[in-house]
Amino acid sequence: MRREGDGEFQLITRYFCGLTSLADDVVYGIGDDAAVVSIPAGYELVVSADTLVSDVHFPAGTDPYDIGFKALAVNLSDLAAMGAEPRWVTLCLTLPGVDNDWLAKFSRGFADPANRYNVCLVGGDTTRGPLSISVQIMGIVRKGTAISRGGARAGDHIFVTGELGAAALALSLLKDADARHSMDDCLARLNRPEPRVEVGRALTSIASAMIDISDGLAADLGHLLENSGVSAFVEPERVPVCRQLQQVKDRNRYWQLAFASGDDYELCFTAPEESVQRLEAISNELQLPITDIGRIVEGEGRIKWVSANGEEMRLSLRGYRHF
Ligand code: ADP
Ligand code: MG
Repeated sequence: MRREGDGEFQLITRYFCGLTSLADDVVYGIGDDAAVVSIPAGYELVVSADTLVSDVHFPAGTDPYDIGFKALAVNLSDLAAMGAEPRWVTLCLTLPGVDNDWLAKFSRGFADPANRYNVCLVGGDTTRGPLSISVQIMGIVRKGTAISRGGARAGDHIFVTGELGAAALALSLLKDADARHSMDDCLARLNRPEPRVEVGRALTSIASAMIDISDGLAADLGHLLENSGVSAFVEPERVPVCRQLQQVKDRNRYWQLAFASGDDYELCFTAPEESVQRLEAISNELQLPITDIGRIVEGEGRIKWVSANGEEMRLSLRGYRHF
């Protein structure tokens, strides 16, 4: 039987009840056997989940604020890639023990992006074991407007939001104390990625296919191409890459960090040529670069890297399946 003094119950009450602001569409939230939420008429439910495991997805000593932030941000990024509006989230926490300082920071890191994007924490589970954080996120889209990975057609242009490579560069330099010091912006991108929720939602009537870049442009654009049954020409020189990475002279290392490493959490999408003006307007309004990096062609899921004058380039990317 459960009493007020029960450790797990106390922990949930202290750190997770009231962590996020209450929304009208939550009928029952934390504290019941299950949450009940109401989906507006004419909308569909969009669901995604991601787990972060200590020493696999983040180094064991990572700031608990950053762990909380990233656990939610990577889930928000998946909903952004569908063009969905995030609404509700559940949090399954496995903890080696009760560390109040850790929990206070972790819950703050989780709450900040939740409140920024109006997501309500409606339930979860708390157990003891090796540290792992599992988040399930739910959102809504107007019926029939979700953007899948499968809609790219020959002739579409390929775009990316923001800039790539900062997080990968930071991760590659984590062990180098001097370099790390000058990499604060990149480290922030690694630890607190900015999910592209607004731009994702703005693209529902424009993009033909979309994916978020979590495993590197080459791999993730590859998934989009496979799902759509098309190939792509991409100009590496047009892909926007963060300022610090541009200073890396070794070309192989540069391509590797820019196109074949993880944690960018930008969006890659395709759209027909006539959308260019609307994309410019969205980019200006949201103050977020949207860059045209190539074109979709008939084919079976391959990326052909080409120079500005159309010559094929051979990029040696590790961890990426070559054709
Ligand atoms: P049950 O025994 O029915 O699984 P729990 O004791 O696990 O209930 O959880 C009690 C309530 O607290 C439930 O509403 C559950 O959704 C919520 N909850 C548990 N852990 C968390 C958490 N880490 N974050 C948010 N809500 C939680
Ligand atoms: Mg439970």
